Amino acid sequence: MPFRAVKGMNDVLPEEVGRWQHLEATFRETVALYGYQELRTPIVEETQLFVRSIGEATDVVEKEMYTFERHRESLTLRPEGTAGAARAYVEHARQAKEPVSRLYYIGPMFRAERPQRGRYRQFHQAGCEVYGDKGPYGDAEMIGMLVDLLTQLGIGDLRVAVNSIGGAETRELYRLALLEYFMPQLAALSDHAQARLQINPLRLLDSKDPRDIAVAAGAPSILELLTPEDQEHWDGLRRALDALKTPYTVEPGLVRGLDYYTRTLFEVSSTAGDLGSQNALAGGGRYDAMVRGLGGPEVPAIGFAMGLERLLLAMPDSKPSMAPFCFFAPLGAAAAPTALALARELRERGFRAEVDGRGTSLKSQLRRADALGARLVVVLGESEIERQVAQVKDLAGHSQREVPFGQLAEELVMSLQSSVPSAERAP
Ligand code: AMP
Repeated sequence: MPFRAVKGMNDVLPEEVGRWQHLEATFRETVALYGYQELRTPIVEETQLFVRSIGEATDVVEKEMYTFERHRESLTLRPEGTAGAARAYVEHARQAKEPVSRLYYIGPMFRAERPQRGRYRQFHQAGCEVYGDKGPYGDAEMIGMLVDLLTQLGIGDLRVAVNSIGGAETRELYRLALLEYFMPQLAALSDHAQARLQINPLRLLDSKDPRDIAVAAGAPSILELLTPEDQEHWDGLRRALDALKTPYTVEPGLVRGLDYYTRTLFEVSSTAGDLGSQNALAGGGRYDAMVRGLGGPEVPAIGFAMGLERLLLAMPDSKPSMAPFCFFAPLGAAAAPTALALARELRERGFRAEVDGRGTSLKSQLRRADALGARLVVVLGESEIERQVAQVKDLAGHSQREVPFGQLAEELVMSLQSSVPSAERAP
């Protein structure tokens, strides 16, 4: 049996990688305009970091982590980026260096979920975190930036859901209100929900089980229980979103799967492209208690993560334009080394060049140049080497001319430059 990639983990082949690079570059450029700097953390962390920050009664921690033991240490492949970023923030005492840290990351995440379209076991997230800004205006700026970024990527039909789950005090009030609401209907809930109710009744609001969904539909809204401070934060967020003209919908049922959130929560979905049922593109929220909870100082924080595979499914299909390039077709053993040297001269001038090293017939080499989309083909046969000239074929113009070696590089550069608008040329 030949080897296959692990289930739910995908190769990104050369034909697809251009779209990935475009997506990643657009993300980096956009967030840099807002002052974010990249943070790279290890892919593996101590298991307890995720248990403590994500929360025990969450799907991710309960059943989706890739955990293994080495040298009597329990380690886990990161299922998300926030915990590692917060760990690094605390470990390097970033608060002592700067009052506000704006960080971003891009990389693979791992969750043992049931694979389907848009849901994988190794997937990629790009995310942003801000430490040291308690909001709500920074929250609105982050949501606005995310929406603008997705729009710039060509993703339409966006739906931006926003909610506040308040701070600890509000959530305790809400926990009691939910218990009071759910307890009399306990028998109508799924077994899993029944078991979780006492641990964290908020979890029931994002259960996927139809029985839980039916009961949760009538649950009280947390927005009615906000303390005055939480209410002020929520009102400020909405005013700032309105000022930014970022469209959004208030969704009181939005609690999101992870335990660490406080106050602002948001999620962006879309019905564009090939997304299907996995249409959540990005999600995030405020987690004011996490830095403290990980042994750091009292520093408020907010962040979001977006799934790159899903963005690629939602983005319009566009072929990245290829820079024009030159293909060298040497015929015979004497021509090949000359072709290598001539090709290098072109590359030194910043142009792509490829030499056919197969030693096959002219016809087969021309076929390959055509398939690769080359603009020019330089044919070098024995008689050309003897006379120190090359036959230059212009595949687009269907013309051919003889050029002496001394002028070849300059002539090729001129033809390649004139064949496309300068913006599309290789640097
Ligand atoms: P989360 O970290 O669960 O809040 O997810 C944030 C975003 O990551 C989601 O909106 C998805 O776009 C993406 N995502 C989460 N889990 C997966 C997965 N298993 N496969 C692909 N994308 C995912």
